[in-house]
Amino acid sequence: MITLKLFHVRYLPSELESGLLYFSEEYGIAGHLCPCGCGSKIITPIGPTDWSLEEKDGKATLYPSIGNWQIPCRSHYWIIKGRIKWSYQFTDDQIRLGRRNEEERAIAYYKKLDNKRRKKTIFWRIVNSIFKK
Ligand SMILES: [Zn+2]
Repeated sequence: MITLKLFHVRYLPSELESGLLYFSEEYGIAGHLCPCGCGSKIITPIGPTDWSLEEKDGKATLYPSIGNWQIPCRSHYWIIKGRIKWSYQFTDDQIRLGRRNEEERAIAYYKKLDNKRRKKTIFWRIVNSIFKK
């Protein structure tokens, strides 16, 4: 059973220690080392279009799962109440799909935001330029 202890910080340190989930509430970012042991640094932005981090009794739950298709080990797991729960390994198709879902989630969020404001902003143009490559 691999566990990650929630560790509140203001800034993420450049060297992360295994077994800790660093979280900067101020900057909306969390980081930990890949629990497979490969030593890769996993950074998860925390926010409405990124991951949500719920803290209960000093233990963190992240949603959704963390899929590290960008690093060689391609690990995929959940962090639930400070514990690592392994998920299935990605296939190449799922990796493509995962990327698309992330983009759709972000686009849906910004669209909603944009409708609320009822005016075109430079923000929208930036979002479009990011996702329409
Ligand atoms: Zn790994």
